[in-house]
Amino acid sequence: MRMDRRDFLKRVAGFSLGFAAANLLVPTSAKCKAAAPVAEWIGTRYLDSAIKENIRKLKQNHPHLKIGETHCHTTYSDGNYSVEQLMIRSASLGLDFLVITEHLIPNLYPLAHSIASIAERGRQFRDWDHDGLEPIRVYPAFEVSTEQGHLILAFPDDYLRPERRGDIVRQFSRFDSTIFPMETAARLVKPFGGISIIPHPNISRAYPFGVSTDFIEKHLTGLVDAIEDISTGHGYRASYAEDLGLSSIGSSDDHFNLIIGTTVTAYDSSLHKDLMSAVRARETFALKVDDSLDELISAARLVL
Ligand SMILES: [Zn+2]
Ligand SMILES: [Zn+2]
Repeated sequence: MRMDRRDFLKRVAGFSLGFAAANLLVPTSAKCKAAAPVAEWIGTRYLDSAIKENIRKLKQNHPHLKIGETHCHTTYSDGNYSVEQLMIRSASLGLDFLVITEHLIPNLYPLAHSIASIAERGRQFRDWDHDGLEPIRVYPAFEVSTEQGHLILAFPDDYLRPERRGDIVRQFSRFDSTIFPMETAARLVKPFGGISIIPHPNISRAYPFGVSTDFIEKHLTGLVDAIEDISTGHGYRASYAEDLGLSSIGSSDDHFNLIIGTTVTAYDSSLHKDLMSAVRARETFALKVDDSLDELISAARLVL
């Protein structure tokens, strides 16, 4: 019997709310640079086992669930760890898929960086050999800067193949020299069978960062597919997807290979063959897996 979206969400969310959070004692004055080694220590000693255990329980209760990270960065843009390190860690946590989203910004992070990162994901997947760990499914994706803010574009995993990556280059090389309206970026991913995800909505920076939900409602209805409802990195939990009729995404925006897996996106694999299909059907779910680092993150602002 098929549960509807609300029932499903209630059951899974009710379950995840039952997780106990450990209270970590960390210096509130920790700054970004100081936080990296602290983060690494906590990550290896404590956090990994907590995330692993919670994901294992989720899957035990919902065997068809596919769970993954949909927003994170590596050294190909402003992240501090390699594609290989993120893939191994995500796989060891029990995640089923990983969407790495390098920045694409004129004169700062060219498309070539994203394409090299995508090629590396394909290579790591193909040559995977890590002590009995199953290879993690990866998708081509990047986070493009537009006139209104960031937008994540993700592609079917078929575009990992070298001969298909060229199609992405032809379509998106225009972003190397120009900042386009968000509508344009959202439109350009559609011919690929790809999806667009709005990250960190309503969050302001000195430059266009999180597009407002007002703008989404007025200008992006029917164009964008999904929105981040829960973000560990940006420290909020909302119900934007339900309000706007979009698919619900949970992610970390991790730059330190630390908070991957603390907030995830899930879908039912008995209904959908991949993330693209689940997002298009508006049947993805944002889930908080572990909140024990939330205080550290808001204190140290790990995400730039
Ligand atoms: Zn962003
Ligand atoms: Zn990001």
